[in-house]
Amino acid sequence: MTGERIESIATTLVVGGGIGGMATAISLARRGVAVDLIDLDPDWRVYGAGITITGPTLRAYRQLGLVDRIKAEGAVTNKSRVRLFNGTVLRELEEPEIEDGLPATGGIMRPVLHRIMQDEVRALNIPVRLGLTVKALETVGEGVDATFSDGAKGRYDLVIGADSVFSGVRELAFPHMGQAQHTGQGCWRISMRKPPEQDMGEFYFGSDNPCGITICGKDAIYLFMLTPHVRREQHFTEAELYDELKALLAPFGGNAGWIRDNMARTDWINYRPLAAVLQPKPWYNGRVVLLGDAVHATTPHLASGAGMAVESGIVLAEELVGAASVEDALLAYQERRYPRCRDVVDTSVTIGRLQLEHGPPEQIAGLIEGALMRLNAQF
Ligand SMILES: Cc1cc2nc3c(=O)[nH]c(=O)nc-3n(C[C@H](O)[C@H](O)[C@H](O)COP(=O)(O)OP(=O)(O)OC[C@H]3O[C@@H](n4cnc5c(N)ncnc54)[C@H](O)[C@@H]3O)c2cc1C
Repeated sequence: MTGERIESIATTLVVGGGIGGMATAISLARRGVAVDLIDLDPDWRVYGAGITITGPTLRAYRQLGLVDRIKAEGAVTNKSRVRLFNGTVLRELEEPEIEDGLPATGGIMRPVLHRIMQDEVRALNIPVRLGLTVKALETVGEGVDATFSDGAKGRYDLVIGADSVFSGVRELAFPHMGQAQHTGQGCWRISMRKPPEQDMGEFYFGSDNPCGITICGKDAIYLFMLTPHVRREQHFTEAELYDELKALLAPFGGNAGWIRDNMARTDWINYRPLAAVLQPKPWYNGRVVLLGDAVHATTPHLASGAGMAVESGIVLAEELVGAASVEDALLAYQERRYPRCRDVVDTSVTIGRLQLEHGPPEQIAGLIEGALMRLNAQF
């Protein structure tokens, strides 16, 4: 992917080197814009979960030129299986390609995806500074004066806040926005070796706790389970996470049952309460703009949060190319992204609420299918 140079934007700062920040940095650098990328984490790591990548997410990664590496180092498929929680197979779904040669869906370990994107950032010679954030942002004329947490200063034509759900950039420059709201559900995840019979992604319904398994590589899967949020004073210890998840999986059959019987205390296990918010417009303030979970944080019900972040990075760079002014570009970016992200956030939150209320399974399935069909439309 190449593009014409963005005349009105020469220097940009991306705050947050996660999925959305790296997608933005790659998209801008390919168009000849100088990008500085900073991340708070001194080691620029990501935790050890797997991630589901839907067709639209794969399409966005194809636009970034990274889909072949994702296919090679993750796992892709055009099929998934629906089971009752006890293991009974209900049906196998043939999932349609949304573009020629693009797999319908897939999975990859987050650290592998992170490395693929980091390799591209390095290949484009994007300067990356770690263990750093911004402490002050002041729009002055046609630029932003940024003060970094190490005391250094810099001036940029545009600052992009891609620093996730607790965004520091949002705190600094967007007083009309608020915190993400807890939805009442929590997500349990385990990453481990692949069950021998696991040949495609699976969903398990019919229990109070919906569950699924995504293949993430030759011998890697992750299992997720959604439960009512477990309120506690303290975080679970590693031993408690193992015991609790094993107990939650007690009634499950099929590959979920195999995972329960073969999970080890050394496997990566995590519990996280779910939160979501679609921040109110405007998503930009002067020459500061937000992107990814910082402005459209969602729950995993449609497995589309990462896809939305990558799409937003691509759209922002596209709109900055050839726009009459930076302000026009930021407005166009916001207007292109807002309805699509609202669909994902609203539908995901509604599905979660229905699951908590034991709503009709056909209604939940209809909401998921409808949203995924709409997301198949080009962004
Ligand atoms: C339980 C769970 C499961 C999920 N499963 C899926 C899934 O299967 N498929 C899917 O598509 N999406 C999934 N998501 C959503 C997806 O992970 C996010 O939507 C996506 O990572 C958002 O990208 P981002 O770039 O906005 O944030 P992130 O990827 O979180 O990156 C943010 C980066 O900013 C850095 N940072 C944070 N604060 C600062 C600061 N103050 N200054 C500088 N840097 C900072 C962090 O270190 C990090 O590197 C899931 C989410 C949850 C909670």
